[in-house]
Amino acid sequence: MKREVKMDADRCPQDHPCPLVRICPVGAISQEGFAAPEINHEKCISCGKCVATCPYQVPSFEQ
Ligand code: SF4
Repeated sequence: MKREVKMDADRCPQDHPCPLVRICPVGAISQEGFAAPEINHEKCISCGKCVATCPYQVPSFEQ
């Protein structure tokens, strides 16, 4: 079973263009303005790139 990635919006300062949007290889991450990024679970392949990249640890694998 695929590991779900969850986004914790409370950890995001929401003041910059999210770099994860471009890092995700399948385009599963989107952002409205400077809001916290959102994840499309249908598209996500659980590669972990966003989890490894975000300095605020907004994305993380569900335990
Ligand atoms: S785990 Fe990989 S595929 Fe899923 S949202 Fe993060 S970067 Fe995209």
